[in-house]
Amino acid sequence: MTARTHDLIALASLTAVTIYYPPDHFTVTTLIMSLIANNIGTLIPDLDSATNRLWDLLPAGDFLAKIFKRIFWKHRTLSNSLLGMIIFYLFLQWVLPKFLYPNMVNISIIVNATMIGYLSHLIADSFTKEGLPLLFPIDVDFGIPPIESLRIKTGSWIEKALVFPGVLIFLIWFSIYHQSQLIQIFRSITN
Ligand SMILES: [Zn+2]
Repeated sequence: MTARTHDLIALASLTAVTIYYPPDHFTVTTLIMSLIANNIGTLIPDLDSATNRLWDLLPAGDFLAKIFKRIFWKHRTLSNSLLGMIIFYLFLQWVLPKFLYPNMVNISIIVNATMIGYLSHLIADSFTKEGLPLLFPIDVDFGIPPIESLRIKTGSWIEKALVFPGVLIFLIWFSIYHQSQLIQIFRSITN
């Protein structure tokens, strides 16, 4: 799926999880950082594609992307697997406390927001024709439904005309349906 669709699916997933499992309280900084982290988290699995938007943010990003892509030779390998997800989770747990002040931001909320973005990417990609190498390095691709011809082609009209608007409508409907919970969550935000 395209980055645009992934962004929206990640945001919808974060909203749904936050409504079902509201945090006791969180700060404005945590809220803003969680939204950014969720967005970065959902772009990470496609880092092995040189066109990934994250590469544009880095100076010499194109050059680094080409090297990185050569290491992962085939699109969708380690970063689209359970192993990749676990490595990334452990990396976050290790790196975030090194440069975030725990009294200013709730690090576990930020880790969760990132992982929700990451996981939502893998689930969304499992509906595409390419499928997911979930058990990498074991070479089997998973997909929903298991028959490849019934799955979506990335960037196709189905993704643009049905999936993207469908998720958008779901997000709006879900937020309106749960507006009292959402208001309560926003009220619990402190500075
Ligand atoms: Zn992907």
